[in-house]
Amino acid sequence: MKRRKDDDEFKVVEGVIDPPTLKAVYRLFSRGALRTLHGAISTGKEAGVYRGEDKDGKSVAVKIYRVTTAESDFMLEYITGDQRFKNVRRGHRSLIPMWALKEYKNLQRYHEAGVRVPRPIDIQRNVLVMEFIGDADTGVAALLLKNAKIPSPVDTYDEIIEMIVTGYQKANLVHADLSEYNILWHDAPVVIDVSQAVLTSHPNAERYLYRDLQNITDYFRKLGVEPEDPRVVMKYILSSGEQQNGVS
Ligand code: ADP
Ligand code: MN
Repeated sequence: MKRRKDDDEFKVVEGVIDPPTLKAVYRLFSRGALRTLHGAISTGKEAGVYRGEDKDGKSVAVKIYRVTTAESDFMLEYITGDQRFKNVRRGHRSLIPMWALKEYKNLQRYHEAGVRVPRPIDIQRNVLVMEFIGDADTGVAALLLKNAKIPSPVDTYDEIIEMIVTGYQKANLVHADLSEYNILWHDAPVVIDVSQAVLTSHPNAERYLYRDLQNITDYFRKLGVEPEDPRVVMKYILSSGEQQNGVS
């Protein structure tokens, strides 16, 4: 009886944290980016997000990508065609760490461009440390936009469209998975989950941009907002972004 219980527990731990991941967590401990790792905020199929504390006891969010994932075809679609990540191929053992690094770099780009995202703090292999969005005192994470009661849907719609425009024109990024499921509400919208975001030079960037606009439009229409036609917003973004297309 006892033995079986232990085996089950081991399976759970095994799926969450393998030895290389544990090593990455220890590295982050020794750098001071992390001091404690608390419970899971979310356990998705590709990554788990945990609350942690840095060396000063400040809450941080820790996103741990699963090393064994069946999603590599999906990842390849969003990583090939991005000049920052050359020589990527299927089954490459560094694909997951590269995916985590892509999220870190995208957070950095958005942050520098002034788009509200969790500030990236540190990255080690498949473990990303970022700003915790929520109540730092109680450790309660912010709600997803889809579950939050927002005071003015019209204003929030405008704000999110503004974030998409700035993301495109200043960060040169298209989120590519934007919806009410990847925006947190913390007195204002905060965009998360940016690992799949692509540079505007990506061959599918315009298709992804349109899809993002459509998701946001559909959601706010349900909330009673009369949103702008996504094709019009799309045209605006593409035409006024023509002069500035730097890539790095
Ligand atoms: P995925 O959808 O791939 O599992 P996300 O990046 O969307 O990963 O994160 C999953 C969940 O974790 C989010 O829906 C959100 O509830 C929570 N979360 C993610 N990042 C943060 C953060 N910086 N602060 C607080 N909660 C977060
Ligand atoms: Mn998500």
